[in-house]
Amino acid sequence: MNMIKVVIAGPRGRMGREAVEMVTKTEQFELLAVLDHKNNGMMLSDIPGFQAVHRVPVYTDIEKCLEEVKADVLIDLTTPEVGMYHAKTALNYGVRPVVGTTGFTKEDLQELEQICRDKNLGCIIAPNFAIGAVLMMKFSQMAAKYFKDIEIIEMHHDQKLDAPSGTAVKTAEMIAAVRESKKQGHPNEKETLDGARGADYDGMKIHSVRLPGLIAHQQVLLGSDGQTLTIRHDSYNRSSFMSGVKAAVESVMKQNSFIYGLENILE
Ligand code: NAP
Repeated sequence: MNMIKVVIAGPRGRMGREAVEMVTKTEQFELLAVLDHKNNGMMLSDIPGFQAVHRVPVYTDIEKCLEEVKADVLIDLTTPEVGMYHAKTALNYGVRPVVGTTGFTKEDLQELEQICRDKNLGCIIAPNFAIGAVLMMKFSQMAAKYFKDIEIIEMHHDQKLDAPSGTAVKTAEMIAAVRESKKQGHPNEKETLDGARGADYDGMKIHSVRLPGLIAHQQVLLGSDGQTLTIRHDSYNRSSFMSGVKAAVESVMKQNSFIYGLENILE
């Protein structure tokens, strides 16, 4: 069995902790090191919550890390600025990134796509690693052929840094690919309170809800004459994302190009 050697960036985060558990429990994966902006030079087992994870060093400097450990894949679960730097650096070291971090700009994605092309390396970025969320996006895209008026309501915990969510933007992009641009609502509608109608994507509306207690939820409301259709997905905990991260780590080893969205690697 060929082991896939992994580095995880952001191990102390909510997603990072789940990823450490998934990687250490997966037989064909080996966790070589973690990247953290704190705790440089420590062992992961010295950090509370990781006592059972043995012989995994903590690095702050990604270049030093990738020079010293020979990794195949970098899983990044940090913040958009850091995630972009990590993904670019990993590719420059011949390491394939699997990125769950959200909030990348279109320009960021284009830049990474170009680096993958230049280096002939795979990179998978997925704004949502939950299989159910990918199906929700696909079903919404199918329905959008028949329902042209669409509002997306995404709901997340109040510690989320970016809005709208990467999943909402990706859903809107997938819908826009099959739906003719249409400005929704009354042509003369006017907001008496700024933001009341939400963000605009190709005429569709996106609304971002942030509340403690939520994890990651989205509903896509589609309206037509005399009927509405609601497609909804809920992640109740962060382990819901890990089967997708695992599939992406396995898949990225076979890829030589940039892939955006889990739906592109699912059979
Ligand atoms: P989180 O709990 O805030 O974790 C982020 C972690 O990154 C924190 O521990 C933070 O450290 C660490 N960090 C910051 N700068 C760093 C650096 N330079 N090097 C290494 N680590 C660094 O957030 P989360 O909920 O785990 O989410 C992480 C990312 O994944 C977010 O972008 C989120 O939107 C995204 N996400 C994606 C999916 C998906 O399916 N694709 C699902 C859920 C979340 P401190 O604790 O010291 O600040």
